[in-house]
Amino acid sequence: MTPRVLVASRISRSAVELLKSRGFEVVEVNEPPEEELAKLIKGFHAIIVRSKPRVTRRVIEAADVLRVIARAGVGLDNIDVEAAEKKGIKVVNAPESVTQAVAELAVGLMLAVARKIAFSDRKMRSGEWVKHEAVGFELKGKTLGIVGLGRIGRAVARICYYGFGMKIVYTDQRCDREAGREFNGECVDLETLLRRADIVSLHVPLTPETKHMINEDRLRLMKKTAILINTSRGAVVDTNALIKALREGWIAGAGLDVYEEEPLPKDSPLLELENVVLTPHIGASSVEAQEQAGLEVAQKIIELLK
Ligand code: NAD
Repeated sequence: MTPRVLVASRISRSAVELLKSRGFEVVEVNEPPEEELAKLIKGFHAIIVRSKPRVTRRVIEAADVLRVIARAGVGLDNIDVEAAEKKGIKVVNAPESVTQAVAELAVGLMLAVARKIAFSDRKMRSGEWVKHEAVGFELKGKTLGIVGLGRIGRAVARICYYGFGMKIVYTDQRCDREAGREFNGECVDLETLLRRADIVSLHVPLTPETKHMINEDRLRLMKKTAILINTSRGAVVDTNALIKALREGWIAGAGLDVYEEEPLPKDSPLLELENVVLTPHIGASSVEAQEQAGLEVAQKIIELLK
């Protein structure tokens, strides 16, 4: 029987071609909602997703011959891993493939907020020359606080230490002092990090422990001049508290790639704030990362189903 793969979010052409060249039948759909996916999933041996669609318990229970759920990227929070494992379905991802892309976006957001790049661009397009309002600050010599020193957190720390001469403090549930040595990083608790950092960059996965980890009390610990960068998951930050912090000046600005609700609702107050730079969850959206993520999960599927 021909093995069948449901590609449920857009992945690289070379990954699709690789699967086809190995005799797989590939069906491509565009991020179907839960109900539709629960119907579609029947007859497929593998499914490939990105941060969408959600592969819920309902979808997994509806599957009849499914053996692999592949996430072309890192975070598994859109997949009910427990339900999959209970049914003996393997869940695989491509953790290394998107590290550099996300790290570079985090640094891009830092620069965009610190130097008011997006703000200046907006004003110029509306005919204003905002030379005085657009005075920013340099990254050199500032303290970067990395929350979650995993693959992406380390990549950001490296760029900022070697590229900008920033000081690095970090917090992680494991607090591995060896991991921070290459950039002279100091492991501290979250509260100390928030008090000391000029830029706080979030790189933890979304788990019950990290949900709303950055809440009102913790935002109040940050310096008034500090900026918050979130390229991890929207729900790591309490959005309402962040909006309050940005409006009332508890912090100076934020650069966000991820949101509690995606797409970001059209009436979100974030859209009205000048001190925020917003991108539509494009951390992993580089040509190189997508190519690599697609190929990596296609290869894993071929291995597992051969
Ligand atoms: P990783 O697993 O290498 O690193 C995560 C780190 O967070 C680990 O060191 C872990 O010990 C730490 N951690 C986990 N729970 C913690 C807690 N409660 N307190 C403190 N530290 C904790 O993952 P990674 O590859 O660096 O990716 C990090 C996250 O980035 C992903 O989980 C994903 O949510 C997000 N991401 C976003 C995009 C995007 O498009 N914006 C793309 C890829 C990944």
